[in-house]
Amino acid sequence: MLEVDDVLVAPPREGEVLVEIVASGLCHTDLTALEGSNVSAVYPLIPGHEGAGRVVETGPGVNSLQPGNHVIPLYGPECGTCAMCESGRTNLCWTIKKTRDRGVMPDGSSRFTRGPDQVHHFMGTSTLSRYTVVPEIALAKIRPDVPLDQVCLFGCGVTTGIGAAMQHVRSGDSVAVFGLGGIGVNIIQGARIAGATQIIGVDVTDAKNELAVQYGMTAFVDAADVGTDVVTAIQDLTSGGVDVGFECTGLLPVMRQTFDSCVAGWGQAVMLGVEPVGGEMSFPPVGVRYGKSIHGSYFGGIKGRSGLGALLDLFVDGKIDLEAQITHQLSLDQVNDGFDLMRKGKSVRSIVRFE
Ligand SMILES: [Zn+2]
Ligand SMILES: [Zn+2]
Repeated sequence: MLEVDDVLVAPPREGEVLVEIVASGLCHTDLTALEGSNVSAVYPLIPGHEGAGRVVETGPGVNSLQPGNHVIPLYGPECGTCAMCESGRTNLCWTIKKTRDRGVMPDGSSRFTRGPDQVHHFMGTSTLSRYTVVPEIALAKIRPDVPLDQVCLFGCGVTTGIGAAMQHVRSGDSVAVFGLGGIGVNIIQGARIAGATQIIGVDVTDAKNELAVQYGMTAFVDAADVGTDVVTAIQDLTSGGVDVGFECTGLLPVMRQTFDSCVAGWGQAVMLGVEPVGGEMSFPPVGVRYGKSIHGSYFGGIKGRSGLGALLDLFVDGKIDLEAQITHQLSLDQVNDGFDLMRKGKSVRSIVRFE
């Protein structure tokens, strides 16, 4: 259970920015922090990593942002100067990973206190606080004409799903999406934008079917249907397997199904779901010898500071929908209700609004 209470937020230090959060989506990774299964959660903490807001104050040395700028906090920063940022091969930037995973700012301290006690940051973002402090390199400045209480979803789920699809799907491809939650429906949306002609959704409940169809799903495979062999069903719907399979459940047997559902020669299995701690996936090496490949995707392969703008443009152009996936709008006092809805699978995205 989350406790809603007053915390003191200290001013931003060197390279840091104080942000007033307008809205924050609830994401499954926050739930793992509440349930104690997130290895980088240091307690007590303020969760939230899918927010949007405005810059209030900048610390010394900050020159890319000013008070009033609209921003999306990034759990994956983009410093622009490390080996990863300069490689052109990844959107990962681990410049501040060590301190972020210990729940503190890059200088090793927290900006949050409750009474005499330190409260930790979470994922470097802590967007379920009206005010939060975030390093400059972990803030994407965004165009000011978009509704912050919707585009907060670009802080995680929407970018993760749409980015992954746009990176891996080619025009004319067949695609399978395992798990039609917040990430899965956005993969469907991204696959449609990328020009996929066949988009197969796989889940154990058809509860989110309507949204998936609206976003571009062309066929549904019910994995809970006794007697349905998911892999065979997908092979039958396609010519022997899909060009790209996306795994969004984090379940090891589903990862294997995703791999097996991909077509020989070039099929790509893309892993997005987070496995249980220590979990290992198995696959037959012959599949790889015959051309299948396994990929991972983090934040949709999008570089947060330099790449998010193009996705926001697609939203403004009407190609990306956010409204239909926002199933619940909550006040901060209702935040626990939002996580209950998530546990019961009754929401796609719940948004906590601060104003
Ligand atoms: Zn998330
Ligand atoms: Zn970097």
